[in-house]
Amino acid sequence: MGKTLPKTGTPRDAVMQQLKALHADDAKWKDGKTFSLVYFAGDEVSALLKDAYGEFIAENGLSPVAFPSLRQMECEVVSMAASLLGGDDDASGTMTSGGTESIMMAIKAAREWGKKVKGVKRPHLIVPASAHPAFDKAVHYFDVDYDHAPLLPDFRVDVAAMEKLIRPETVLLVGSAPSYPHGVIDDITAIAALAKSKGILCHVDACLGGFFLPFARKLGRPLPPFDFAVEGVTSMSADLHKYGYAAKGASVVLYRSGGLRRHQFFTYAGWNGGLYASPSFCGTRPGGAIAAAWAVMHHLGEEGYLNRAQSILESTKKMQDGIGKIPGLRVIGEPVGGVFAFGSDSLNVYELGDAMDARGWKLDRQMNPAALHVMVTPAHAAVVERFLSDLTQCAKSLAAGEPAPDGSAAMYGMVGTIPDRQQVDDFLVEFLDGLFNRA
Ligand SMILES: *Cc1c(COP(=O)(O)O)cnc(C)c1O
Repeated sequence: MGKTLPKTGTPRDAVMQQLKALHADDAKWKDGKTFSLVYFAGDEVSALLKDAYGEFIAENGLSPVAFPSLRQMECEVVSMAASLLGGDDDASGTMTSGGTESIMMAIKAAREWGKKVKGVKRPHLIVPASAHPAFDKAVHYFDVDYDHAPLLPDFRVDVAAMEKLIRPETVLLVGSAPSYPHGVIDDITAIAALAKSKGILCHVDACLGGFFLPFARKLGRPLPPFDFAVEGVTSMSADLHKYGYAAKGASVVLYRSGGLRRHQFFTYAGWNGGLYASPSFCGTRPGGAIAAAWAVMHHLGEEGYLNRAQSILESTKKMQDGIGKIPGLRVIGEPVGGVFAFGSDSLNVYELGDAMDARGWKLDRQMNPAALHVMVTPAHAAVVERFLSDLTQCAKSLAAGEPAPDGSAAMYGMVGTIPDRQQVDDFLVEFLDGLFNRA
């Protein structure tokens, strides 16, 4: 028998002590040794997020009528995001729980638009091979058809190949700004022009870049156009809980014009419980996530985001220059910001990842090509030199034939040799099932 609900309550202090003790084995993101999952903007911002979230922890964004405060904050967050991303006064959107929900909503809207406006029975999408798995997940949930478009040698999607995949049922083309694996921006101008010429929609996934690229550009970083300034871009996703530095559970999905957003909404007028109208995927929507996003945007302002983008660009340059100097290692493609991957022609990068793990660093592993993934935040400015010296030493000892510490290299090596992807999927399902076993 696993854990059961305690018969009697535990005092607050003791519960908090237990919670704090539970942190012990977690990734130590504050010291800058992890490169994904947490986007830390400093202790002061964290404290504000906690206070703002706490202030609205009970409120429910499902009812804008009961909570006009949340409605106002959500509208203001969406408006600030839309204006950062080149939207005009017609632009509209919704806050969601994260990038996955934003992408799901854009696809749901495109599906309904395809059915109602284009008369397509089973709408079809075209998504870059490098696009986030949230697209594959949305297709899985929403019963639409799709194709992956292949990448060019520079890891941007091949737009000519995309064009060949277009069929009468196609309603949406997708590009990333930037892509998660390699941090490169797809040719949004070409994708959007293609979509427009075919009379279909174009979504730009700026989950990573939405609250970073506009500031990087202001700081003088040359960037290709990627937002609503590009004619033909009809929707965008941008994550507040990434480089927006908001509390988790916050993203926006944006539409060039309000008409498209209507296809996202769900209503049901036939319920005994009354009239039901829900803007996005979730029913109950946490007021805290809305308030925390609103609070951090006001607290940082353009100035605060620019400072953080500057720090990220500087750390990234140092890291990439340093990696370029390590024999055998190279940065993949031409990443535009703090998200990038590096690989090797001579070393096993998975073993390199295990060697770095042993020194407390956590770098995500990537496949096709084998690579380690870096996602720079302001927390990394203080550790760039140590990172590079550890990486240099690890690479050197591997090159000298010293064995890597045990880690995930064996598993990645094994997975790479299985030609049947279904077998790998089955393995992952078993893995998840085991992880969430009863305590
Ligand atoms: C993180 C991410 C997503 C998914 O966002 P979640 O908040 O994890 O649901 C989608 N696209 C890109 C490019 C991302 O980086």
